[in-house]
Amino acid sequence: MSENLKPCPFCGGEAKLYAGKINFYPYDHRFRVWCSKCNAMSNLFRTKDEALASWNWRVEHE
Ligand SMILES: [Zn+2]
Repeated sequence: MSENLKPCPFCGGEAKLYAGKINFYPYDHRFRVWCSKCNAMSNLFRTKDEALASWNWRVEHE
């Protein structure tokens, strides 16, 4: 599942989407993207689309 993720802006590694519950919001899911190679991470977002958009924006602007 690639989810249209661009490679990491820092090392070119494979980016992955993480979706999970976090402690502060037990009934809510949060999404973030991280690099499987250098562990660069995006912020947490409410939706998958926001996390993807943020990651891809960073790839294009850094
Ligand atoms: Zn990386």
